[in-house]
Amino acid sequence: MPKHIIKYDHRDGVKLPQYQVETWCGHQPGAFEWLFQDAQHAVLCIEHGGSQVPCKRCLKAIRDVIDREVK
Ligand SMILES: [Zn+2]
Repeated sequence: MPKHIIKYDHRDGVKLPQYQVETWCGHQPGAFEWLFQDAQHAVLCIEHGGSQVPCKRCLKAIRDVIDREVK
């Protein structure tokens, strides 16, 4: 099962409950779902051949931002 990547898990400096955590692809995480903490966490897991595989839609959402914003 691919794992989603957290986009925001804080609002105004307060950690959000997991059901309010926003992931990059828009998936709504379940209460005990395992998530990548951020993009760096996911990329390092790919690079080191970690056992968890990131969600392709989350990765694409991150790449879309880079392609759009980094000239
Ligand atoms: Zn995802």
